[in-house]
Amino acid sequence: MVHFVGAGPGAPDLITLRGAELLRRADCIIYAGSLVNPALLAMAKDGCSVYNSAEMTLEEVLAVFQEQEHQHRETVRLHTGDASIYGAIREQMDALDRLDIAYDDTPGVSSFCGAAAALHAEYTLPGISQTVIITRMAGRTPVPEREALSSLAGHGASMVIFLSAGMLPAVQEALLQGAYTETTPAALVYKATWPEEKVVRCTLGTLAACGAAHKITKTALILVGDFLRTTAYERSKLYDPGFTTEFRKGTQG
Ligand code: SAH
Repeated sequence: MVHFVGAGPGAPDLITLRGAELLRRADCIIYAGSLVNPALLAMAKDGCSVYNSAEMTLEEVLAVFQEQEHQHRETVRLHTGDASIYGAIREQMDALDRLDIAYDDTPGVSSFCGAAAALHAEYTLPGISQTVIITRMAGRTPVPEREALSSLAGHGASMVIFLSAGMLPAVQEALLQGAYTETTPAALVYKATWPEEKVVRCTLGTLAACGAAHKITKTALILVGDFLRTTAYERSKLYDPGFTTEFRKGTQG
């Protein structure tokens, strides 16, 4: 069987208990070496075969899945963050379906959650934004035209941009074509939850300059939106003394 496991954003103790148990029991681990913290590999048992998928093609990964399956060995496919976000997991699952190899998927803490934690931020502030847009700039992987950053920016929602720290001037330009302005708060979070984590707060107008000044070109998230600075949000209904919920009677019935 193959177990897809989300490794979390970096700090080894941010893997789930289930993910850690699967890692300890694995006969084979294929990890995404470009971003998964190698410290997690210390959990592997003696005799576990370890492969770095950064040096492999999909076909080579599938060949390892098949070889391990034939020997009735359990494989953990360890992806960074959560595998459902830019994880290239679907093509592996579809191939496993075709090969009739069973698999399951253990979620992980995505880096966009690690970045919010580093910033002490909440993406969904009442009265400010109730939407988080997760996206990227087109690179070698194209983005559908209808999802162009400039058009997504029209919502003025809380936004997290993956895989684009090497294109900050273009990101800044595209975002300014939407509802954000030069003074909209922005941030760069480099290697969230790793010991070398770097948090840079700026505004959209200074995003590219701040990235250059701090030499941030990869392994970073770009965050933009009023959630990063405003104190003008509304307090929650859920914890309002006047508000009645299924679990608590409020003072206003
Ligand atoms: N599945 C992963 C994302 C993989 S795509 C997840 O859920 O987080 C790789 C991109 O994710 C990087 O280019 C960077 O933009 C972002 N990323 C991954 N780990 C990160 C971290 N610890 N800090 C900041 N950005 C990170």
